[in-house]
Amino acid sequence: MNISEPLTIRMYERDNVAIVANDGGLPPGAVLPSGLVLRERVPQGHKVALVDIEADAPVLRYGIPIGHALNAIAAGSWVHERLLKMPDARGLDGLPISTVKPPPLPALDGHTFEGFRNADGTVGTRNILAITTTVQCVAGVLDFAVQRIKAELLPKFANVDDVIGLEHTYGCGVAIDAPGAEIPIRTLRHISLNPNFGGEVMVVSLGCEKLQPERLMPPGTFEIVDERNVADVGASEEAKLDVVCLQDEAHVGFMSMIESIMRQAEEHLERLNARRRETVPASELVVGVQCGGSDAFSGVTANPAVGFCTDLLVRAGAAVMFSETTEVRDGIDQLTSRATTPEVAQRMIDEMAWYDAYLQRGKVDRSANTTPGNKKGGLSNIVEKAMGSIVKSGSAPISNVLSPGEKLKAKGLTYAATPASDFICGTLQLAAGMNLHVFTTGRGTPYGLAAVPVIKVATRSDLARRWHDLMDVNAGTIADGTATIEDVGWELFNLMLEVASGKKKTWAEQWKLHNALVLFNPAPVT
Ligand code: CA
Repeated sequence: MNISEPLTIRMYERDNVAIVANDGGLPPGAVLPSGLVLRERVPQGHKVALVDIEADAPVLRYGIPIGHALNAIAAGSWVHERLLKMPDARGLDGLPISTVKPPPLPALDGHTFEGFRNADGTVGTRNILAITTTVQCVAGVLDFAVQRIKAELLPKFANVDDVIGLEHTYGCGVAIDAPGAEIPIRTLRHISLNPNFGGEVMVVSLGCEKLQPERLMPPGTFEIVDERNVADVGASEEAKLDVVCLQDEAHVGFMSMIESIMRQAEEHLERLNARRRETVPASELVVGVQCGGSDAFSGVTANPAVGFCTDLLVRAGAAVMFSETTEVRDGIDQLTSRATTPEVAQRMIDEMAWYDAYLQRGKVDRSANTTPGNKKGGLSNIVEKAMGSIVKSGSAPISNVLSPGEKLKAKGLTYAATPASDFICGTLQLAAGMNLHVFTTGRGTPYGLAAVPVIKVATRSDLARRWHDLMDVNAGTIADGTATIEDVGWELFNLMLEVASGKKKTWAEQWKLHNALVLFNPAPVT
C-alpha cells in the first residue's frame, strides 16, 4: 500500500462512516479521494465521518446503526466510542424466521485430506493420547506422569503425535446437581471423545471427588476398544472404563501412582500407534471458527474470508460451527432469517434468551464484551463488533444449533452457542467434535490448543508482518488491495486440507503454544 494515498473502506453505500485503512492512520488535513478533508488525526481502523451527522442521528456501518451521535459530528471527524450512544439489543420477539432462502450452493467435490478414521465414524486430524481427569486435584501428578510418558514412552510410538493431560478446574467444590452443572460435565465427557483422541479413553481420578469417573463417562458414552478388559472375569460395564485412582489402596507412594498411569498409558499408545492416515473426503472436516483480539478490520478482511471459506466447506459437505453468543446477539435477525426451519430459529432464540438471562444475573449485558484493545482497534461497541463477527458464518443456511457442551452430529452450518471468551469457546468447540480450528485476530493473539491445530488469520498486513511466525494467513492483503476475499478464502481452504493431513503444522503447533481448557460452568461453586 502506498501510504501517501489516503485509503478508507466503507462497507455499504448508505454508511455515513468509513474506516481508515492506512498503516499508522491518517493525519489532520489528509484529503480523501472524495475531496473530504480530515479535521483531526484518525488512527488505523477507526471511523471517519463522511458527512455531517446531526445529534441523535444514527451512525451507520455495515448498513445498520452501530450507535447514535451524542452531539453533532462534522464531516471529516474521528468517530470514536465516546461520541456514540449504543442502541439497545434487538428484542427476541417478532424476529424474521427462515425468510431468507438462498439458492442452494453448488456441491464442491473432489477435495480430500489424509485423516485417521475412528470406530465411531469421526475422523481425526492428529493422533493424540489424551488422559482425562475428573478433578483438578490430580493435575500435578498427571503432569509429572505426562512429562515422563513424553520422555520415555512416546519416542517408541512414531505414529502418535502427542500425549496431553486434559486438565481443568472442575470436579469438586462445585454444586454438581445445580441447574447448569451438566454443561461442564458433558463438555469434559465430549472432549474426551474428540476425534483426535482415537476413542482411547483413559481417566485419572483422585477418589473422593464429586465428579466420579462413572458420572463423567457413564456406560454407553464411550467405545471399548480393548476387548481384553471385557473378557476379565466378572467385568461389569463400569469396570471397562480405564481409571487410575490415586487414592486406591494399592498405591504406596507417589511413584506407584506414576507407574500406574504410565503402564495404562502404554496400552493406549500401542493401539494409537497402529492407526494410519487414509484419504478421506473434505466432508469429514469439523471446523470451529472464532475470533479474538478483534479490530475494525476483522469484519472487512479476515472474517469475510473465513465466511467465504465456510461456504466452501458447507459446499464440500463438511461441518462448520460458528459461536460466540454475545458477538452475534446484535445480528440475531440475520441468523433467524437464515435458519433452515422454524425449529432451528427457535433454538437460536432460546440460546440467546438463556444467555441474556445469564448476563443479567451478573447485572451486565452484552456491552460488557468489548475490550480496551477492541476499542483501540476501532471497534466502538458490541454492535459494530457483532456485525463484523457474524460474517464468519458466510451465507449458507443455518441448519443446526448446539447448546454449550453438546456433541455435534450433523454436517452443514451449525450455530454452537458458547461464550465469546477465546478459551471457553475453543473448549466447547472441542467438545462438539471439532478437528480443525480457525481463529481470526486483528490486535494479535498467540492462541493455540493442544488437541487440535489452530490456523490463525491476521486481519491486517502490519500484524502479519510483525507476527510473521505466529500468523498462518494474512487477510490484510484484502485491505491492501492485493488479494480478494475469494483469494484468501481459497488460500485458507487449501491450507486447511494440508494442515488436516498433517503435511503442514500451524505456527501454534510449531511453537507448542497451548492454552488451557476452560470449562464453562454457569452453576455455583461451593
Ligand atoms: Ca473469541
